Amino acid sequence: MGSSRTNHIFKLKYLVLGRPEENAVDQVVRRTLVKALYSSPFSLVIGAVTTVTAASAAAWVSQLPGLWLAAAVLAIIAAVRIVASLGLSPDDEDNSVTTLELTYEIGAFSFALALGTTAAFTILVDAVSQVQVLMVANALGYGVGVSARNAGRPIIAIGQLTFSCIPIAVASFWTMQIAYAALGLTIFLLITAQSVITRRIFSELRDSIASANANALLATKMEIQAHTDVVTNLANRAGLNQALARAMENFTEESKLALIWIDLDRFKEVNDLLGHPVGDKVLKGVAQRLQDVTPDGSTVARFGGDEFIVLCPIDGLKHAELIASEIHCEIMCPMRIDGELLEIRASLGVALLPDDTEDAEQLMQRADLALYHAKVGGRAQTCFYEPSMSRDLVRRREIEAELRTAIQRDELSIFFQPIVDLETGKIKTFEALVRWFHPDKGELRPDEFIPVAEETGVIVTLGNWITVQAARIAASWPDDVTVAVNLSPLQIRAPGAALGIKNALREAGLPAHRLELEVTESLFIEDNHATAAFIEELSEMGVRFALDDFGTGYSSLSYINSFPFSKIKVDRSFVSGSQAGQKSDAIIQAVAKMGNTLGMDIVAEGLETADQVSAVRAAGCNLGQGYHFSRAVPDYLAAMLLSQERGDDRQRASA
Ligand code: C2E
Ligand code: CA
Ligand code: CA
Repeated sequence: MGSSRTNHIFKLKYLVLGRPEENAVDQVVRRTLVKALYSSPFSLVIGAVTTVTAASAAAWVSQLPGLWLAAAVLAIIAAVRIVASLGLSPDDEDNSVTTLELTYEIGAFSFALALGTTAAFTILVDAVSQVQVLMVANALGYGVGVSARNAGRPIIAIGQLTFSCIPIAVASFWTMQIAYAALGLTIFLLITAQSVITRRIFSELRDSIASANANALLATKMEIQAHTDVVTNLANRAGLNQALARAMENFTEESKLALIWIDLDRFKEVNDLLGHPVGDKVLKGVAQRLQDVTPDGSTVARFGGDEFIVLCPIDGLKHAELIASEIHCEIMCPMRIDGELLEIRASLGVALLPDDTEDAEQLMQRADLALYHAKVGGRAQTCFYEPSMSRDLVRRREIEAELRTAIQRDELSIFFQPIVDLETGKIKTFEALVRWFHPDKGELRPDEFIPVAEETGVIVTLGNWITVQAARIAASWPDDVTVAVNLSPLQIRAPGAALGIKNALREAGLPAHRLELEVTESLFIEDNHATAAFIEELSEMGVRFALDDFGTGYSSLSYINSFPFSKIKVDRSFVSGSQAGQKSDAIIQAVAKMGNTLGMDIVAEGLETADQVSAVRAAGCNLGQGYHFSRAVPDYLAAMLLSQERGDDRQRASA
């Protein structure tokens, strides 16, 4: 703890003051101060003009050739300095601080020395007093003024002061006259005092520049921290917002942007099973891969949890598709963490600017919506935004809001579709299929609201209600007719699921063997103890299980082997769908053969024509369901179908 604190302080110091040996901030301060030397070339011109004018006036009055020479030398030095200072820009990083400083020093010192020597000369040759006064005042004034101006570089300031004043002091003592000696002494005191002042100005100047620089650095560092995610070092939500705002500012008519929203599938399980440190490593690994694979100029951000967002410039849709597929491949590549190979999967949602929207906020919403579709569509896939998704969303929200009250308002009812024995043509089972008669929207299909019910968890209440209703109605049918109820995985995994079914049976007075529960393979994707316990407990009671929609998912035979299914329902896509054909006939045949061997019923779903019926019969299916026999009908019609069938039987028997 203590050492990390020291370390932290050291880092802060490092940041503010730079490395102890090579103080970065000192360098910055020095450059700032050297810049000040060059900051007002105009003052150089004024200094030069007054001095050269004074020397010329002195030469004119005294008619001393030496003073004309001095005026000329001063003019030449001044001209060279002005030219040099114009040619050397202190803002140009190519010009080193040392070069800048040295150039200034040479010019400044030679000018000061020339001026001081000129003034000393007027004393030594005992020029007329007005000439002496003019030049001495000029040299001293120059020295004092310039030492204040150049306090930022004390060596230069004090050097200039010394070079412009010392010759006068020396000449003054040389005359051996009391007044002049006093002048010499004054000059020494002046140099000493002025040096102290210069040094003080310098240290104050330096400290304030250093602290301003350190503050600026600290502010930059804090700004960066506020926009960075600690785990991955990527931009965080704020950083992404900033990048998005910047991208919008620089957006031109030709530019295009893709916003790719990435969500790791089942990341919670990684955290729960392997621990957060491993979870963090996965996040870091994904962050690195995203950075590797995205084009230059992209922003990669972690949007919290297991979500990442990539914002990247693109040429068009094709380019975006390519980037998205590269990202997908890269993430799905097994990741080695602590010696273990982990397979990470991700769903991607993509929205494009300006194709899908011209607004930054909407861009996010639309990518999110596309991501939602990718997840609902089975995860581990990429979806691009489509306008229909927005329409779906509105409708889904409405459904979500109204579903809870639909049961209370009596808007739901259960319809029954017969499952027929293909040999005898008799109804063996009715499958319960829920319907929602919405006062404004009309009849809603379960495909539309069951997924919403699953997402919101309403399915548990809804499913219980359906089971109770279906069992109650089935209790009024002849004993040999069973009822099949569809169960969602979520319903089965909910606590007390088996108890709910038992209660429904008890309330309705329906024997367990007359209830059949239809489940899909998706139930088994997650190896769940609760699922197995549910199936075991109910089958021991006599409840039967059917594997629904067989052929659409993994179609793994291992489920059939591990669970006590009494029925397999071959999905209607094999019978009447676009895939139906020779190949599906062969599949139906194989499944039917297996079913017969294992003593299971095989149901062909979606039978719409007599031809399809004879085809599946020939393939070996013993049961059939579909519009050819009947659509799903209300309970009173189901009862009528049954009594009609039994009536026919009786008629035939009596005949
Ligand atoms: P599913 O379990 O596969 O039910 C069969 C679906 O196929 C029913 O649609 C039925 O009307 C339809 N169908 C039957 N014969 C034919 C045919 O010859 N041709 C065609 N094209 N379609 C036929 P529905 O009632 O819209 O139900 C759709 C799905 O909604 C069901 O598929 C089931 O997965 C789910 N679902 C329905 N009711 C419930 C329920 O009470 N609980 C749960 N959890 N899911 C339900
Ligand atoms: Ca079903
Ligand atoms: Ca089905």
